[in-house]
Amino acid sequence: MSNYWTEIIKDISEVARRALHNLVVDNTPPLPKCYEREFIEVASAMQKDAILGEVLSEQEYIKEKIKTVILSATNTFQDTQKILQDFEIDAQRSLSLLEKEFSDINEFVKKIDQEKSEELGKEMESFIGNSNDYTKRIATAMLDIGKYAEKLEKLTKELDEDHLTGVFNRRAWEHDIKEICQSANRDQDTNKGFCVAMVDIDHFKQINDTYGHSIGDAILRQFGNLIKNHFTVYGSVYRYGGDEFAVIMPGIAMEEAARHLKSLTSKLAKTRFLADKGKTRISVTLSCGLYCWQRGDEPGHVTDAADRALYEAKRAGRNCIKIYNKGMDKAEE
Ligand code: GH3
Ligand code: MG
Repeated sequence: MSNYWTEIIKDISEVARRALHNLVVDNTPPLPKCYEREFIEVASAMQKDAILGEVLSEQEYIKEKIKTVILSATNTFQDTQKILQDFEIDAQRSLSLLEKEFSDINEFVKKIDQEKSEELGKEMESFIGNSNDYTKRIATAMLDIGKYAEKLEKLTKELDEDHLTGVFNRRAWEHDIKEICQSANRDQDTNKGFCVAMVDIDHFKQINDTYGHSIGDAILRQFGNLIKNHFTVYGSVYRYGGDEFAVIMPGIAMEEAARHLKSLTSKLAKTRFLADKGKTRISVTLSCGLYCWQRGDEPGHVTDAADRALYEAKRAGRNCIKIYNKGMDKAEE
């Protein structure tokens, strides 16, 4: 565009602006008809509602407003329609993909089901087939376990038993004296303590020398039986070694323990041990040493103290019971 026309348009615009200004200032709206249409469209586009309200009658203003709303709604509707269309396309695509996936999975599951159920069926058949065999094997194993348990019980008993006399052996003594001392020292408030007796057959060597070793064995066997039965209720009897026996009497005081020993010696006085198929009848006497546990006593001290008392009984001429006292320690020194 030439400069000439640019200038003319500028001038026209300026003149029009001033003329419009004058018109607007002098005459209140509405605007002149020749200008009104263009003005309203520009004001609407610029969303100048206040101006529109001034220049248009109320009816026209509402008409114009509705037009704008419809236009905007149409635009929004068209946009939304577009979005929906796009969405539908996407959704259809996703749906068909999902349907494909689903049918693949379905096929896969069907295949697995068939294979698995065939496999399981075979396993069940073989299990049912073998179950009789298993039941038999379990029953046999249980019987075996029962036999082993009996055997184990017997072996455990044998482990602690003296084969000749049937009383507990020295191994059991070492274990039991240690255990009873520990528990007596640990539970001093509730534990009543215990007594220990060492019992030895007098002049047993002479019996062996006179009648022979096997008759000596027979007497030891019968004596073991007698002393075991005598203390069944009051305590446990152990073969300490040779013809010496030890007795643990738990929860029993000195006087009572001495009474039990006295009644043992009395019983023995009336007993004749049989040997040589009943042809030989032999009587024996006992020497006994007694000690009652005191706080803090260790197994070694308990054994030594009862042994000291036994030694005193032998020294006093045998066939008697001696209760330990501290003077016995000095006596041996
Ligand atoms: P004391 O009154 O001092 O006890 O005299 P004793 O002859 O009994 O002497 P001691 O207790 O020292 O001797 C025990 C004897 O017991 C010695 C041993 O020959 C015998 N003896 C030990 N074990 C057995 C055994 O298993 N069978 C037999 N027959 N005799 C045994
Ligand atoms: Mg002896």
